[in-house]
Amino acid sequence: MGVLTVERKILQKNDVIAAENRAMFLQLGLFTINLLSSPGSGKTSLVEKTIEVLKEKVNMAVIEGDVQTDLDARRIEKLGVPVIQIVTNGGCHLEANLVHESFKNLIADHLQFLIIENVGNLVCPASYDLGEDCKVVLVSTTEGDDKPLKYPAMFIKAKVMIINKIDLVPYVNCKPDVIEQNALSINPDLKIFRTSCTTGEGIQEWCGWINSNLRVR
Ligand code: MG
Ligand code: ZN
Repeated sequence: MGVLTVERKILQKNDVIAAENRAMFLQLGLFTINLLSSPGSGKTSLVEKTIEVLKEKVNMAVIEGDVQTDLDARRIEKLGVPVIQIVTNGGCHLEANLVHESFKNLIADHLQFLIIENVGNLVCPASYDLGEDCKVVLVSTTEGDDKPLKYPAMFIKAKVMIINKIDLVPYVNCKPDVIEQNALSINPDLKIFRTSCTTGEGIQEWCGWINSNLRVR
């Protein structure tokens, strides 16, 4: 019983700070996404490809969430985009206060687009609003086609699903159509993209969707 009460209080406190973040991002004219997946689905690779397409035209920044290292932030830094690393020291999700504190340290003017790459985990990040405009869930073809059925909460809360590593379909036991059917059975409103960070398939379509959502152009 005690555990449930504590959990609820933590979530209530998180929601208050998330609402503050959302108001701040809106005031700044910033479009923000919370990027979610299992470990190894290719979140950071997708962020890299997105930066390559958008960075000349869009002022963007990245907040990287990781359990232990700053390896992903170093990858982003090489592309010349402002990035802040949050190391959770074992924590399996980001919380709104961590995003709030790290955003204050982000040195970037006239930002239009912020990517928050969450810790690789399809379970509890679904419960923590960070103040983002929308959650984007990434599933790769190497994970099989039943992820939406196994982790429905994440797919209910997401606005967009990206099926990544689409180039590997001939080599894996996974049908993208089945991932889509499974996901749409849980959330019929999901916007879906199919991408490969190796061949570049679908990256322009995905970046086009981001462009159409920017507030300040
Ligand atoms: Mg990563
Ligand atoms: Zn967690």
